[in-house]
Amino acid sequence: MADHRVKTYTGEETIINAEAFDKLKGRIRGRVLTGESEQYDEARKLWNAMYDKRPAIIVRCASAADVMHSVAFVGEHRVLVAVKSGGHHIAGNGSCDGGLLIDLSLMKSVHVDAQKMTARVEPGVLLGEFDHDAQAFGLATPLGINSTTGVAGLTLGGGFGWLSRRFGLSIDNLISAEVVTASGELLKVSETENKDLFWGIRGGGGNFGIVTCFEFRLHKVGPEVLSGLIIHPLDAAKDVLRFYRDFMKTTPQEFVCWFVLRKAPPLPFLAPEWHGKEILALAVCYSGSLKDGERIAKPLRSFGKPIADIIGPMPYVGWQTILDPLLTPGMRNYWKSHDFKEVSDGLIDTLISFARKIPDPQTEIAFAQLGEGVTRIPKEATAYTHRDAAFVMNVHGRWDNSANDSKCIGWARELFNEATPYATGGAYVNFLTQDEQDRVRAAYGSNYDRLVSLKKKYDPNNLFRLNQNIETASKQGISKVA
Ligand SMILES: Cc1cc2nc3c(=O)[nH]c(=O)nc-3n(C[C@H](O)[C@H](O)[C@H](O)COP(=O)(O)OP(=O)(O)OC[C@H]3O[C@@H](n4cnc5c(N)ncnc54)[C@H](O)[C@@H]3O)c2cc1C
Repeated sequence: MADHRVKTYTGEETIINAEAFDKLKGRIRGRVLTGESEQYDEARKLWNAMYDKRPAIIVRCASAADVMHSVAFVGEHRVLVAVKSGGHHIAGNGSCDGGLLIDLSLMKSVHVDAQKMTARVEPGVLLGEFDHDAQAFGLATPLGINSTTGVAGLTLGGGFGWLSRRFGLSIDNLISAEVVTASGELLKVSETENKDLFWGIRGGGGNFGIVTCFEFRLHKVGPEVLSGLIIHPLDAAKDVLRFYRDFMKTTPQEFVCWFVLRKAPPLPFLAPEWHGKEILALAVCYSGSLKDGERIAKPLRSFGKPIADIIGPMPYVGWQTILDPLLTPGMRNYWKSHDFKEVSDGLIDTLISFARKIPDPQTEIAFAQLGEGVTRIPKEATAYTHRDAAFVMNVHGRWDNSANDSKCIGWARELFNEATPYATGGAYVNFLTQDEQDRVRAAYGSNYDRLVSLKKKYDPNNLFRLNQNIETASKQGISKVA
């Protein structure tokens, strides 16, 4: 067995000799892969095709013990480490060049306790897998809107979706977790055990350790929810969005409506003459009774002259996959995001003018609606601080040909700049791209100093740095690896 050249977290190269490598292999119940291994390409693949990274070693963990051994190994050899669960992060931090990737994607257990209405979830579980298992008991917890996203990364940054206006962020439903810290130790964290770390992992991303188990509180949802799309031509968007923002104030917390501006895909329920034309799509989900939902949604459905309305009862698990075809893996993606307190007239005009010049049929401007479930929790209660954001815009720059990189990236940046005067200045760690390191501090906001103290306590050498990093190490003379 040959030696392995591996990058360290200080940017140098180190040699892992055959003996050390075999020792690691001997300790791992899952698999240890290198460039020649069969599963290597599958294990290193990320959702965003802008990143094609080649780790020197990949540990496909089967258990928390595998994670502990991997962390002890990277700590001992000062190896650059990346952590991957669902592999969806836009910045491509779920892998690395030349270092060691701790791949958690095969840790897929979901254990639902229907009586206690809780679930214990391993980090490799994807949203659709979680919903499948929880909905077998008529239960759910707030997660995101794309079924192939990882529960782990989404939760550690905050996590919001169709149930957040009612039940809060994913982290607001986290009861406890198990975390392997930089010392290789596994700690249970909750409101009563290692409380400071429990606070930090709820919004602080992967900065403090590797979560090997999440325990969530569940809620009764479905099995059917009133949900679907209302589609208007872009020419009607100004009136519809002005109506929308006033109408939403009259609706209860069970009612959520996100919106998307894009070119119409060839959807079977849209007349062919609309395919490829710019549209506004309202995506509605009411998680209360179907009857109440029909009544509450009526004014929104009656407004203007929609070109399609496909709202009706739908299985919750089906609704959770409704946007999957627009967000498939393997495309080039560049995102820009902003938080807003309101959808003002000026913002609406800006959105419409940029929607008229969308550079690629896959590119879209998506608006998530948050609300009472998120704002009722004090911003100091968890590391996620921007609870005042009622809406989060995510400009999904998406295309497939690298020749279009500068056109699509340029459009997204320009829109971001034009929308800045209407935004709060906050940011969501889970939406930050690789070139937005200058926004990381804004993303952690008023909680930043407390996060720095926690980082010093649990990861003083900044072992976990391939994330939206809370830097302490660079101030101590250790340079940050790009
Ligand atoms: C198509 C799409 C739709 C999305 N929709 C939503 C949405 O509706 N709501 C929302 O809130 N977000 C959404 N997001 C953003 C999403 O929350 C982030 O991309 C998140 O990082 C995905 O988690 P992951 O496990 O798939 O990613 P990964 O790339 O595997 O992980 C992201 C980062 O989290 C850290 N990490 C991952 N697992 C662990 C772990 N077990 N322990 C410690 N650190 C870990 C690592 O730093 C890693 O780099 C969406 C993203 C995509 C691509």
